[in-house]
Amino acid sequence: SSTQACLENDISGTDNKGFKGHDMLAPFTAGWQSTDVDPLIIEKSEGSHVYDMQGRKYLDTLAGLWCTALGGNEPRLVEAATKQLNTLPFYHSFWNRTTKPSLDLAKELLDMFTAKKMAKAFFTNSGSEANDTQVKLVWYYNNALGRPNKKKFIARAKAYHGSTLISASLTGLPALHQNFDLPAPFVLHTDCPHYWRYHLPGETEEEFSTRLAKNLEDRILKEGPETIAAFIAEPVMGAGGVIPPPATYFDKIQAVVKKYDILFIADEVICAFGRLGTMFGSDMYNIKPDLVSLAKALSSAYMPIGAVLVSPEVSDVIHSQSNKLGSFSHGFTYSGHPVACAVALEAIKIYKERNMVERVNRISPKFQEGLKAFSDSPIIGEIRGIGLILATEFANNKSPNDPFPPEWGVGAYFGAQCQKNGMLVRVAGDTIMMSPPFVVTPEELDELISIYGKALRETEKRVEELKSQ
Ligand code: PMP
Repeated sequence: SSTQACLENDISGTDNKGFKGHDMLAPFTAGWQSTDVDPLIIEKSEGSHVYDMQGRKYLDTLAGLWCTALGGNEPRLVEAATKQLNTLPFYHSFWNRTTKPSLDLAKELLDMFTAKKMAKAFFTNSGSEANDTQVKLVWYYNNALGRPNKKKFIARAKAYHGSTLISASLTGLPALHQNFDLPAPFVLHTDCPHYWRYHLPGETEEEFSTRLAKNLEDRILKEGPETIAAFIAEPVMGAGGVIPPPATYFDKIQAVVKKYDILFIADEVICAFGRLGTMFGSDMYNIKPDLVSLAKALSSAYMPIGAVLVSPEVSDVIHSQSNKLGSFSHGFTYSGHPVACAVALEAIKIYKERNMVERVNRISPKFQEGLKAFSDSPIIGEIRGIGLILATEFANNKSPNDPFPPEWGVGAYFGAQCQKNGMLVRVAGDTIMMSPPFVVTPEELDELISIYGKALRETEKRVEELKSQ
């Protein structure tokens, strides 16, 4: 079975005796896995590497969960947190009481986001909370405008927007819906813009984008434009398999969304702060969003924090209708947590001082080209990516329509070979994802490419064996 294949291939923390059957209900982990397989326990981090309890060193190619942009031991972030903890470890932001770090961070984010002018920032603790906030904000906005029926959301198949009830509903991955009675009925999903997998024979990228925009428009007309409130998209899809958009996709999608007075939400939780080689994903693809979700690299993950940026058009309605609406009764105890905001401010200062966007552009060709050089492997269907984010998808005969049998566990086997050789990758079925820290060095990229090559040769051998059985 595929479970068995994963078990055999899973070498996570083989020596962490005493933690098998541990006490955590572990996120995104099967029940059998947290009971029958020793967890990998990470104890320390340094640059782009992490160390487990036995002191084994791993190159952390996903930067935690696409988030530790400044790597594992940036002393300035520790100092910023310590300084704030020593001054004011906590005060909230309710009822127009607030703290200086949260005000400063709001101003900084509005200044930085230039793809479209933004007027307000709302703080959360995570990307999921940011996307939940988007939904409530959009509903609040349409209620203020007297449009009580304009409430549906359109997201995309394979999108990842979080795992709370509403953000998991926006997510377009079956695993987050099955067994949880999701998605919520007001969420619709449109096409995943993955050209390699879904284009028709002979169709160019531009034609593929045109078809997807037409499908979106047909769907909007079928549902009734007066019922559709917002469209949400990651500039580059992340957890769904690292899927950069096909040529002209966002131009065409934005034209449709605009035509029917539908708000555009850019979920920049992974793409922001330089990951793609621009400060924001919206800069890369000329997206002019009405609302933006941020998290992850916002604080380089040293403290949990997320944010929502709100355009003047939306914020003006909230302002002008406030007599009718009363308070914006939404917020978290830790919205604008001063320690998280202080760390985020310092992270942003570092991104700017060290020209992190330029650095990503300088080093990413080595990462992209170094790995794409393996594209002709007989077991690889596609290697895709941009900047410092990339996925490898294994496939039989290089075809999107000919996957390996899931019970072969090809992706899991590759992941295990990487781990054995001192490197952690993200495995999702037969797709392998990577997004190293922005501070990854050329030497670390050499190490990454070399371990990848070794793991690939082992996996090719394994597939040969399985085929001949
Ligand atoms: N949006 C995107 C694009 C994400 O990648 C993620 C997390 N991987 C989220 C939202 C949810 O963020 P969090 O896990 O912080 O709730």
